[in-house]
Amino acid sequence: MFIPTRAYRSILSVTPDVLREMGVRAIILDIDNTCTTHDNPVPIEGLMEWLDEMRTNDIKMMIVSNNHEPRVAPFAKLLGLPYVCEGAKPLPKGYREAVRKMGVKKRHVVTIGDQLFTDILGASIFGIKSILVKPIELEKTRLFKLKRALEIPLLPRRYRD
Ligand SMILES: [Mg+2]
Repeated sequence: MFIPTRAYRSILSVTPDVLREMGVRAIILDIDNTCTTHDNPVPIEGLMEWLDEMRTNDIKMMIVSNNHEPRVAPFAKLLGLPYVCEGAKPLPKGYREAVRKMGVKKRHVVTIGDQLFTDILGASIFGIKSILVKPIELEKTRLFKLKRALEIPLLPRRYRD
């Protein structure tokens, strides 16, 4: 339930070749600490080029975030992607809506995210592939520190570059 299909250091390490190998044609993207840091309106360097490369390879993409509309909508617009906000991960609601809207089979979908207890557990419950990435920056709130501490024993030993 907490084991991702694969683990990479960064979303930017996930290439079209990797996705082909995994049989993936569509990606569900997390925002916070996957595409940028929390509350940051600017994506990490290289993300726009990464999105272009995915589009060139006919990979469908959609954002599913547990965050609220005012955070998610402008960021999704900047990336040029459709989105589901308040996705309630790890519940299947957001993932289900995204897969339906993208019109793809579940077996061709991967989610990319930084949290075991939302992104990866949600993918396992819903039955899609998952790629865990390292959080861009560790959170400072008490709740997040607790979540990250609980993740430690379950995290993969190795992340691919
Ligand atoms: Mg996240």
